[in-house]
Amino acid sequence: MSRRALICGISGQDGAYLAQLLLRKGYEVWGSSRDAEMNSFRNLHTLNIFKDVRLVSLNTSDLGSTLGLLRQCQPDEVFSLAGQSSVGLSYEQPIETMQSIAQGTLNFLEAIRLSAREIRFYNAGSTECFGDTGDYVADEESPLRPRSPYAVAKASAFWTVRAYREAYGMHACTGILSNHESPLRPRRFVTRKIIHAVASLALGGNERLSLGNLNIERDWGWAPDYVDAIARMLAQDAPADYLIATGRSHTLTEFVATAYRLIDRDWQEFVTLDPELIRPTDIAHNKVNVSKAAVGLGWRPKYYMQDVIAAMLDAELGLLREERNS
Ligand code: NDP
Repeated sequence: MSRRALICGISGQDGAYLAQLLLRKGYEVWGSSRDAEMNSFRNLHTLNIFKDVRLVSLNTSDLGSTLGLLRQCQPDEVFSLAGQSSVGLSYEQPIETMQSIAQGTLNFLEAIRLSAREIRFYNAGSTECFGDTGDYVADEESPLRPRSPYAVAKASAFWTVRAYREAYGMHACTGILSNHESPLRPRRFVTRKIIHAVASLALGGNERLSLGNLNIERDWGWAPDYVDAIARMLAQDAPADYLIATGRSHTLTEFVATAYRLIDRDWQEFVTLDPELIRPTDIAHNKVNVSKAAVGLGWRPKYYMQDVIAAMLDAELGLLREERNS
């Protein structure tokens, strides 16, 4: 009998790559979206797996429907990836962000507890929860000092998962993931916005790029690498939280300069700073230690920032050429 996974948030970047990975591993994959009738599931079509997954609607803020879906699907594993996922947007939509992340996670845990089934649960956590790490390197036991509404919501979900694991012995864990990118990242995210501008310029456009704080440091990895770590977490006999990152942090300036260098252009000719894009609070340094995942999961990243940028640029060039020819 194959294992059955329910991926909540299957239409997003990670949901699509995780579905692809689990299908390859022989899982039966169900995926939920807030409105499965209306969603185009573009990412599932891009990966050519749309027909291989069973899609259902779920509003995770509704405990009754979450419980109903667990009864209908009877999953062995639940991957909770849905929720408002943009740090920037969380300043504009703090309540939606808090409800979709914190309450959505709590409802899933309650639904699993009430269903009294042996279901393994994955919660999509974030290194944003550590806040500014300054000179130290954060690990799984470091204090959380969230600085954005998004990070506050993720911190709440993290502690809820720990509390349920300890109180009820549930196989529930949080993957505390750093930024991870791919061609499936929506264009509102800064990395994809940069790649899009660079690719347009390479194809003869005259694209200028407006950015906010270029001094922030982040650890950028590759989404397909990270969903591999997610799958490994639920395959462990003992549930635990793991930090997933490349272990190498770079400034946004380095990201931008690397992207423009790949098309032999100097970023300073094309980038303007827009104070409007500076967030009310931001994290300057975000350094994390990934040794627990290396030892416990046997996981190591295959792609680092330069590889991520090259792969995204390649895909964006292909996409733009296709759009122009159609
Ligand atoms: P995406 O934004 O690509 O996908 C998240 C999905 O959640 C969407 O496809 C959408 O599905 C659903 N969603 C969006 N907004 C809401 C909302 N307000 N309420 C309920 N559901 C919503 O995210 P990623 O795939 O990049 O990330 C997956 C998870 O991992 C997220 O929880 C994210 O916060 C977390 N994470 C991501 C990181 C990254 O760098 N990518 C880093 C650390 C954590 P639909 O429209 O079908 O309902």
